[in-house]
Amino acid sequence: MYEKPEVNGNHSAPSGLALLRDPALNHGTGFTEAERDKHNLRGFLPPHVHTQKEQAMRVLERLRAVNDPLEKFVALNALHDRNESLFFRVLCDNIDEMQPLVYTPTVGLACQKFGHIFQRPRGLFIGANDRGRIAQLLRNWPYQAGIIVVTDGERILGLGDLGANGMGIPVGKLSLYTACAGVHPQLCLPVTIDVGTNSAAMMQDPFYVGLRQRRLTGAAYDELLDEFITAASEVFPGVVIQFEDFANHNAFRLLKKYRDRICTFNDDIQGTAAVALSGIFSALRINGGKLTEQKLLFLGAGEAATGIADLVVAAMIAGGLAESDARQRCWAVDSRGLVVKSRTDLAEHKLPYAHDHARVGDFLSAIKALKPTAIVGVAAVGGTFTQQVLEEMARINKQPIVFALSNPTSQAECTAEEAYRWTKGRALFACGSPFDPVKYEGKTFVPRQGNNSYIFPGIGLGAITSRARSITDEMFMVAAQTLAQLVTQADLDQGSLYPALPRIREVSAHIATAVAECAYKNGLAGKPRPDDVAADVRGQMFDPNY
Ligand code: NAD
Repeated sequence: MYEKPEVNGNHSAPSGLALLRDPALNHGTGFTEAERDKHNLRGFLPPHVHTQKEQAMRVLERLRAVNDPLEKFVALNALHDRNESLFFRVLCDNIDEMQPLVYTPTVGLACQKFGHIFQRPRGLFIGANDRGRIAQLLRNWPYQAGIIVVTDGERILGLGDLGANGMGIPVGKLSLYTACAGVHPQLCLPVTIDVGTNSAAMMQDPFYVGLRQRRLTGAAYDELLDEFITAASEVFPGVVIQFEDFANHNAFRLLKKYRDRICTFNDDIQGTAAVALSGIFSALRINGGKLTEQKLLFLGAGEAATGIADLVVAAMIAGGLAESDARQRCWAVDSRGLVVKSRTDLAEHKLPYAHDHARVGDFLSAIKALKPTAIVGVAAVGGTFTQQVLEEMARINKQPIVFALSNPTSQAECTAEEAYRWTKGRALFACGSPFDPVKYEGKTFVPRQGNNSYIFPGIGLGAITSRARSITDEMFMVAAQTLAQLVTQADLDQGSLYPALPRIREVSAHIATAVAECAYKNGLAGKPRPDDVAADVRGQMFDPNY
């Protein structure tokens, strides 16, 4: 074994073939003449030295010659395994094009086919049979992890239980941490807890990578998770642990159990909340409304809806409302109709939004009864913001807030075109899936995705750089405010509620600074406040250039 480089440079490089085979250090044909001499690379490489820019163009040429997104995913993965800096350079410089390939929607397909496209392992798999030796297993990881993204594979995107195949999610998400916020790749540890799967399709797939057993439940599940959390905190002191794609029945519970004990958050709940709240702030800049006067109606009452509602309530309280008044401004319709107090079938996370009201069966009737200023679609049921729904919203409001956040595109509540056409160009619209600009009566609208990647990379970077002991609601609130402040007047004029995605590293640096300031202010930081927090954050961002 040769010595691994330390984080933030200071490489004591291996030489020759070993160097070319180390993705963290390999520059391929980008090695200069001097480097070729110094590291015994002569003969292994063709003579011409390419710039990194030329190498990136070569990657893009090959990638664009392929039509199938899964094949593009495989090619990008292979690049990640070969030359990490070049991989991140390509991602950073083409984030609009690459994000849908390394993350949603392509990553969903990649998880379904995980065993079929498997080449090299990345991250750590912790199985039900590793009980009692998880700390030992974590010590096999050669770096000091700063952030772990962990899944148990039970609710992968909208695809359900994919078991250990869910590993594509932590891997993809951590690539975005590096691409969007410059979190150093060696600080990033993807983890999949393989507690089994209840999916018959996985069990029957000869290439399935996980344990062939039904999911652990109850105490056996909790004990395994607890051993993992305890071991991770011991082996990597101060590590940020982000929960990802756990099913409802574990997601809320685990977050509640661990959020005050370790530095942790759940992006499906809290990251979504911050990105949605930020979109609301931007919409209010356009229609001149006040947050405390809004009434939100959610379609769906799961992780996204509850997360958004909780943060909106926190922001309304910060704006002067009493908690009960704030909650009264958030309503939800689930698959059985309006969530109201008299219902006896409600899961615990819905109870804070079960208000006194007669039962209402469908979404349109709920809009007519409640007259919301904003509708937020997070039920993963396509086409539910119908013409009638949107016309009714436009009748009640001069400029209604319409967020169709469900993924993938086939599940979107409405298209951007429908949102603008059916509200006569008055909707303040954000989406969960990408939509092209829309021309309506001579005006071009540029809808932007309320993508969590505007938020979680900056949250993670801020927590790492300040060595935060926990991640609070206030941090998500300041992240939402910071993101909204970065939306320009030109963005708003074209109906964009978020900044352009290519500004993402700048956005993340601002969010990380705000989050870190929050940690210093509240005594949650693990180091003294540096004089220049923004410079401290930027100084720790990984630069993929060579
Ligand atoms: P979830 O499974 O936790 O919640 C889904 C909810 O929808 C449940 O409460 C369910 O009862 C309800 N539902 C199902 N069918 C319904 C119907 N016909 N009518 C009304 N309600 C119905 O899932 P989640 O994590 O909350 O995600 C929901 C959707 O939001 C997904 O499509 C996800 O991709 C999307 N999402 C988007 C973003 C984003 O754009 N930034 C972030 C997170 C989630």
